[in-house]
Amino acid sequence: MKVQTIITSFAVCFTAMAQNFDDKYLSCPSYSGEDLELSVDTQGTHWRLWSPEAQAARVIIYPSGLHTAAIDTIAMTPAAQGTWCASVPEQLYGRYYTFSIKHQGRWLKETPGVWAKAVGANGERAAIIDFLTTNPKGWAADKGPALKHINDAVIYEMHHRDFSVHPSSGIANKGKFLALTESSTTNPDGDHTGIDHLKELGVTHVHILPSYDYNSVDETNLPSNQYNWGYDPFNYNVPEGSYSTNPSDPATRILEMKEMIKSLHDNGIGVIMDVVYNHTADNDDSNFSLTAPGYYYRHNPDGSYSDASGCGNETASERSQMRNFIINSVKYWAKEYHIDGFRFDLMAIHDIETMNQVAAALKKINPDIIIYGEGWTAGDSPLPEAERALKENVAKMPDVAVFSDDLRDAVKGHYSDAADRGFASGKTGLEETVKIGIVAATDHPQVDYSKGNNSLFPYAAAPTQIINYVSCHDDLMLTDKLRKSMPDATDAERQRVARLAQTIVLTSQGTPFIFAGEEIFRDKKGVHNSYKSPDSINAIDWTLKHTNAEQNDYYRQLIKLRKEHPAFRMTTSEQVARHLKFDKTEPGLISYSLIDNANGDSWKEIKLIFNGSGEPREIKIPKGNWIIIAEDGRINADGLGFSKGGKLSAAPRAALILARE
Ligand code: CA
Repeated sequence: MKVQTIITSFAVCFTAMAQNFDDKYLSCPSYSGEDLELSVDTQGTHWRLWSPEAQAARVIIYPSGLHTAAIDTIAMTPAAQGTWCASVPEQLYGRYYTFSIKHQGRWLKETPGVWAKAVGANGERAAIIDFLTTNPKGWAADKGPALKHINDAVIYEMHHRDFSVHPSSGIANKGKFLALTESSTTNPDGDHTGIDHLKELGVTHVHILPSYDYNSVDETNLPSNQYNWGYDPFNYNVPEGSYSTNPSDPATRILEMKEMIKSLHDNGIGVIMDVVYNHTADNDDSNFSLTAPGYYYRHNPDGSYSDASGCGNETASERSQMRNFIINSVKYWAKEYHIDGFRFDLMAIHDIETMNQVAAALKKINPDIIIYGEGWTAGDSPLPEAERALKENVAKMPDVAVFSDDLRDAVKGHYSDAADRGFASGKTGLEETVKIGIVAATDHPQVDYSKGNNSLFPYAAAPTQIINYVSCHDDLMLTDKLRKSMPDATDAERQRVARLAQTIVLTSQGTPFIFAGEEIFRDKKGVHNSYKSPDSINAIDWTLKHTNAEQNDYYRQLIKLRKEHPAFRMTTSEQVARHLKFDKTEPGLISYSLIDNANGDSWKEIKLIFNGSGEPREIKIPKGNWIIIAEDGRINADGLGFSKGGKLSAAPRAALILARE
């Protein structure tokens, strides 16, 4: 009787006629228990698949991850809240499984499900393993760095292959999770590489590009050295196999990713994971579609997939089971893998309520976890703008931060126009937009938002809601951008501009974010969308650390300055409005002070002058005992010398920073 009732409710949830194609999914029962798909206990092995529309469902058991015949097929029986269950009395460790559901009269392709936590090569079959075998020594006590506020972080965005695959890295496990467990590695000149380089540089967190199991790299053919960024999600809750030393052994990738995380944690560095819940690699053949056809995606009125991701589909976070999935997935990564933060790709495809629930769930696990994302979509979405987790709506998401495209485009030039210059490379008229970046898009009496290029109102409720950057994996990275927009300049001149640009990033309110290797002036040979370019484009050539040692040293001092001075890390809009005072802004010149021991700083005043023009500019500094922190393309967090103030010259394309106690 009970079963019959449930089946009836399934049918109702998918056949109700509705004006909107997607309205029919709203009444579906959802299931949020943590035993979805697989659990193993002393009673045996148990499966619970959420598939409210299925007419029948089965589990198929295999002896290996690929290319073997099934050894058993078990019919599942309907259970509570749209789920189907099966059990066997044995603990089937070492076996693999897939699900298949009957939908509209036919059996769909097999799928490892959406909750596989271990898989065989290429993620085609889920694996049954004992997770106790996947923990490195000391894992129970492993912990990421303490972080009082998100803007105490200095974030370093990296791809596993970029970081270690070049012969000059001196790293043995090239392109692998384990690369970040190797200490004392050097380039041929003896400069630190790998994790020692990160420590020396002083970044607090690495942000790793997608490291869940993605679709595009053939894990059975690793010698072919395929490259992909990984924005084509396949199994969301399993590490990517090509970053492990043995993708065919399901436990190896899990153990090795944990070893990487533990190694970073042991060295005081946190790990932020790039997560891409907004779309999947496949449409009808995705694990979502093969378990609950139609449910997890948004559609156009004609029933076709809507495409706010620009990748062929977009997920529907406002639907309870998709929302549960995102929340439970990040919770799983935080608990099982001790991940310290999440970067949401195309976050505005998700709804505000989901992001707030994500933040609340994560903060319960670890109050220091940080959450940020791209506050935009790639295309239009059926989700109303008022509900989207857009940059413009970030004030409604207090524990979430967004990337500042304001600062990015104004400082280095527009992302979509290679030749366009920015404030740091000499274009004028962008000063007010740079100022929006400096105050982290908060309400400030001296910032005129009507002159903003990308934003016309102070959208952040606090500086902790903004991530500042001028370069990331997307679009032309800084070196390439400067080469294309300053074709007649020398690399020495471009490095000077890069220093000015990053000085603005690292001293602005908000959280700074840099792209791996730009500290040694790496490039990507002018390729702006290198998502599947070979290592010859993407790999960081670590001999540049020797060639561009001064550039690296500049970044190191800049990071040190930021970390030693809370004035750059104010946490409320009111603090910023009170303690950050702009001087008169001129074309090509921005000058401001952080005053009255801002945010408990040891310095009473810090004066920052950014000269983006190609000429020296005369400026007037109040008389006093000033320490010169940066001038003419040089910087030292402990001081380069002293000044009595008065009339000073700000060198072209450089930051002048002075401080007094
Ligand atoms: Ca994969």
